[in-house]
Amino acid sequence: MHDDAMDQARAQEIANRWMMPTEESSYMGGLEKRPILASASGSTVVDTQGKEYLDFQSGQMGAALGHRHPRVMAAVRKATETFVHASNIMLNVPRLELHERLGKLLVPPLQKSLFLVTGSDTIEASVDLARKATGGLDILGLHDGLHGSTSYISRSLSFAWKRQQHASIAPGTSAILTPHCYQCPVASSFPKCEFLCLKASLELADANFTSRPAAVIAEPILSAGGVIVPPPGYFQAVRRACEERGMLLIFDEAQTGLGKTGQMFGFQHEGVVPDIMALSKHFGGGVPISAVCTTAEIAKRAVASGFFATRSHAADPMLCAAGVASIDAIVEEDLAGRAARIELRMKSALAEMAKRYELIGDIRGRGVLLGLELVTDREQKTPANKEAAVVENRCLEAGLILQLRGTGPGRKNVLRFVPPMTTTDAEIDRALSILDDALAVAVGRSPGVGMRGAVPTPAR
Ligand code: PMP
Repeated sequence: MHDDAMDQARAQEIANRWMMPTEESSYMGGLEKRPILASASGSTVVDTQGKEYLDFQSGQMGAALGHRHPRVMAAVRKATETFVHASNIMLNVPRLELHERLGKLLVPPLQKSLFLVTGSDTIEASVDLARKATGGLDILGLHDGLHGSTSYISRSLSFAWKRQQHASIAPGTSAILTPHCYQCPVASSFPKCEFLCLKASLELADANFTSRPAAVIAEPILSAGGVIVPPPGYFQAVRRACEERGMLLIFDEAQTGLGKTGQMFGFQHEGVVPDIMALSKHFGGGVPISAVCTTAEIAKRAVASGFFATRSHAADPMLCAAGVASIDAIVEEDLAGRAARIELRMKSALAEMAKRYELIGDIRGRGVLLGLELVTDREQKTPANKEAAVVENRCLEAGLILQLRGTGPGRKNVLRFVPPMTTTDAEIDRALSILDDALAVAVGRSPGVGMRGAVPTPAR
């Protein structure tokens, strides 16, 4: 779709006059200088000039089923002809269907769910649930974690965003060290370290607790913090630490749940089932609906202490119907299996690129949540922020959207790839070819000299 009416000049005019400040220095500043999107389908988005991009960011991670998945669109269309919005003090058919569908998908003892709208909502509710169920207050989160942007709890626990930016911080929220083995926070190495980062963190946490502790919250893979996969056994050690302190374990599966890591849930790689799990992002296949899941026993205890959480649009039949359709698509189309195959294809090509580009320091992630940490030298692991920015810009120019993330202050050197689980092999190969060229430019070589267009097909 070509839309001359909404060009850069017009966008600039609207931004200047009508939008909250978007100066370059502000968070998400300068958006009006970037492509203005007009339409999307599958793994492709199109701007107002008709230029197509491979969306390896899955929108804002809500399009993991691909943009406008036909099954979800059919459910939404049907809802627009029957029932869009409903009171949350009465049940409706899609809401009941979604509780049952999700409940059957959960790994026992997880069983019960409640619906909200955004990811941040689920964190507020999960924390409240843990506090009500335990009678505790203190919540620990990983220091590169990100859990949302509501002004109090979820931002207070989003250590990957600077907490100084927030108006106020919720009491009883503090950080423990992220187990980022590539850039170890305690200058040790795995497995020799025996989770030294966790031991040191817990010693401090025990000293700092202001009340009874309630929970540890974590993303199974820290996405915004730089696609960090904790080492094997880490979450089992966290689980033991929780049990010793009467704390619950909350997994924020906004970015790892529902197929994206190659398993239905991210925690299934860890041999640990959380007490509470938060789902959002692509749960509604592109429309906003989120869920908090827990065990029958924890739900009962928390509710007996007065817990409840809801929103005006939390039980809307249209959103719930989209949730049902998205679960059906994930299960029946085996999108988790597809995510695992995409991981193999991408990691094998990226490993081959790492032989040609010293710039590639680390390749990590699972399924369709993958990261490439760029360093100026592999010995010191100095963040290659400048080169990463060149790669991001060249990719965008060539029609590939990805995002830059970092693993700490002053670092913006991790290229994050989040292709929809429905991305075809041909689309994956095209993206890899664009990336290859962009890496060549970043290191001062001519693009296209490497293996352009010749991405090897890995074993399945
Ligand atoms: N949890 C995680 C892991 C996230 O990445 C995000 C958003 N990036 C959120 C929670 C918050 O979700 P929302 O923006 O829908 O509130």
